[in-house]
Amino acid sequence: MKNNINNLLYKNILWATMTLLILAIAFSFLFTQSKAPTELTISALAEKINKGEVEKIIVSGNNLAIDLKNGEKAVAKKETELGLSQTLNNYGVNYSALQAVALEVKDESGFQFWVGILLPTILPLIVIGVMFWLIFRQAKSGAAQAFSFGRANIKMFHSFKDRITFKDVAGLKEAKQELEEVVDFLKNPKKFLEMGARIPRGVLLMGAPGTGKTLLARAVAGEANVPFFHLSASEFVEMFVGVGASRTRDAFATAKKAAPSILFIDEIDAVGRERGAGLGGGHDEREQTLNQILVEMDGFDRDTNVIVLAATNRPDILDRALLRPGRFDRRVFLDLPDIKDREEILKLHAEEKPLAKDVDLKKVAVRTPGFSGADLANLMNESAILAARHNHKLVAQEDLYNSIEKVLLGPERKNRVITEKEKEITAYHEAGHALVAASLKDADPVHKVSIVSRGRAGGYTLKLPVEELHLRSRTQFLTDIAVALGGFVAEKFVFGDISTGASNDIKEASKLARALVTQYGMSEELGPQTFGESHELIFLGKELGGEKNYSETVATKIDEEVKNFIDRGFESAKKIISSRKKVLDAIAKTLIEKETLEREEFDKLVGGFKLKPLAI
Ligand code: ADP
Ligand code: MG
Ligand code: ZN
Repeated sequence: MKNNINNLLYKNILWATMTLLILAIAFSFLFTQSKAPTELTISALAEKINKGEVEKIIVSGNNLAIDLKNGEKAVAKKETELGLSQTLNNYGVNYSALQAVALEVKDESGFQFWVGILLPTILPLIVIGVMFWLIFRQAKSGAAQAFSFGRANIKMFHSFKDRITFKDVAGLKEAKQELEEVVDFLKNPKKFLEMGARIPRGVLLMGAPGTGKTLLARAVAGEANVPFFHLSASEFVEMFVGVGASRTRDAFATAKKAAPSILFIDEIDAVGRERGAGLGGGHDEREQTLNQILVEMDGFDRDTNVIVLAATNRPDILDRALLRPGRFDRRVFLDLPDIKDREEILKLHAEEKPLAKDVDLKKVAVRTPGFSGADLANLMNESAILAARHNHKLVAQEDLYNSIEKVLLGPERKNRVITEKEKEITAYHEAGHALVAASLKDADPVHKVSIVSRGRAGGYTLKLPVEELHLRSRTQFLTDIAVALGGFVAEKFVFGDISTGASNDIKEASKLARALVTQYGMSEELGPQTFGESHELIFLGKELGGEKNYSETVATKIDEEVKNFIDRGFESAKKIISSRKKVLDAIAKTLIEKETLEREEFDKLVGGFKLKPLAI
């Protein structure tokens, strides 16, 4: 932003200097032309007339253009009030000498007269006017808006030409399903209001960079056919405090006026960082902006038909206040595309590109694990460029393969590259979790297994309890520990080595085991007691630390018990994995091939082995 303004300033200064330079050159040009003849005083002219050296005098207004007999030209000025003969008479020109001179009187034309008077006054005004106009025009067109800091730089996509719908978004099936409801609200608010339902205020789109958050937000507006206002939160954070807040106000006002509409706040983490948690002192401007967003969202009436969509790739750092009911209480997760979705995205972006007949996008999808939608769009584009550079008529499979590397090595790509080996390790790791979960009686059913990285973990296995459980038994905790360790055990068993991918699981298992002992009193050894008081720091709303209220002996015992629980989970996972290696292989192989397994597919695959449920 600061840069923008600087650029603008330089541009304008350049403009002004150039204009002045051109004017100066033009003026001096005109001036020298009229200066070419020598200038005579009236007395000198009188003398020349008396001497008979003057051939002709052309009078126009007060200006005299003189042709001398020797061929030279001269100019002179007469007094304003008097006629020429009168003037010359006063300078002692005798009558006969004057008669020898041809006198021509040119009426100073009305135009010339006015130009002569007005030009010197008006020209500078015009120049200044033009300069200001240029400055304003540039300030407006540039993102800077140098003269309207407080106004939101809100972009509206409304035209039907670039209307985007769900058809333009490949994959992301779950996200689309969830947003379908929002579309329905916008299209048909009455239906919901009559049922007494409250229109949702905010939907938070979460996902890695390039997964299509912005695209999907626009598609929602396109589906509902409502105006879409796009603003980037990072632009809010300006050099002047208070600007962000006033821009927020402005943006919300604009969106409300256009209701039903969608207000999209991109990269909301730029302002939505947890407030007050920064130990190095808060960022005033950011906090004010965030507060303003919250105030605006709270100020919606029940029937305000504006839905605020926000996007972030860092949901972990968002302020809790943003996530409260009535604010961004709906969350939609955008996963990186799996093999099938990658193929679809490639297909979508290949639509306007002439592909050779033998191009197989599926093979490209196989070779691009970890690519985001944006990466794939980029890949398609690169391959078209490559084909054009080689003067080919069609994009060939080779071009696509070669572009994969280009995108991988590209400067924008910061996420990690997944190798074949890593893919295999991740597959076995996730298969380990899934198999342990499927084998134990009390485990939550596996909803989805995926080796497409989500956030920092290599893959994930999603287990959801059958019912929303508020009470968990000791057996369930033990099962959870075993499932958490399943990935670790599988890696160790299959590869004889473990990767960093298991570190989160180990942390999770340790946390569970410790909670079992110290919080829930589930250890037989130590009995029903809690150990350590955790402090809720109210103003942060977060648990920061605990206080030790037990002796060292007890501490040792706690550690022993924690280890016991972990060992039990570990043993149980090991037993399952070593005795059911065939199933593990089958799951891992399917994962390498498909990358994601939904619940039905998983159940079908494992069901084929007729596993007996085990107790922990
Ligand atoms: P984000 O906002 O999540 O960083 P964008 O929505 O800006 O990502 O996506 C960037 C580009 O990547 C889009 O303009 C589109 O061309 C492409 N893209 C990303 N995801 C998809 C998808 N699911 N289907 C089609 N194109 C996609
Ligand atoms: Mg984006
Ligand atoms: Zn794991």
